[in-house]
Amino acid sequence: MIDVEIKYKTPNYCPACNSIVETGVIFTYTYDVSYTDELQNEGTEIILSKCLNCDRPVLTEEQFRNIEEHSWINSKAQLYPVTDNIALKNAPGIVINPYKEAAKCYRAQAYDACVIMCRKGIEAICNDKGELKGNLADKLKNLKNKNVLETTLHSWANELRLIGNDGAHSHDQIVTQQDAKDSIDFFDALITYLYHLVSQYDKLKARRVK
Ligand SMILES: [Zn+2]
Repeated sequence: MIDVEIKYKTPNYCPACNSIVETGVIFTYTYDVSYTDELQNEGTEIILSKCLNCDRPVLTEEQFRNIEEHSWINSKAQLYPVTDNIALKNAPGIVINPYKEAAKCYRAQAYDACVIMCRKGIEAICNDKGELKGNLADKLKNLKNKNVLETTLHSWANELRLIGNDGAHSHDQIVTQQDAKDSIDFFDALITYLYHLVSQYDKLKARRVK
């Protein structure tokens, strides 16, 4: 392995370790710098660092501001690894909110709460697709019968329902980090399919008909 030079250390969120860890900054690139006067400037910095716990790379973007010897970070975004689902912008609020809550719970290592939020998200998907009556198992079955969910997706959604039940009601069935991670991944896949790929496919078909 090639040793890279660490310029300085800074705490950062590492998705692989799922915690705030010490990261070593390897490279920084500053651009878009504007000076209001000699002593004041603001700009953007792209920072490549590595997690000092698992060695994986993290890329962040910071909007900074310097006034004399003081400096601030106005906003900070993680560019890599990407943790947000692009399909989210098309999904309704009642689905987005539990997804974001589930991600927050996961980061806080609250795995029971995370799977309960995923289950809530599945319930929200059913409501959004017009299934308002009966228990969640029935609603999912109806969506399967209406071909909104094909067999595999129905199985995933149903598993999220069961894991969510464990998180909510069981005192001896322990929800592990892996269970929580898998739940978010499947929830993510359902959102991508229902709110992104289906409409993308319809648009593709419409374009090809012309
Ligand atoms: Zn790590």
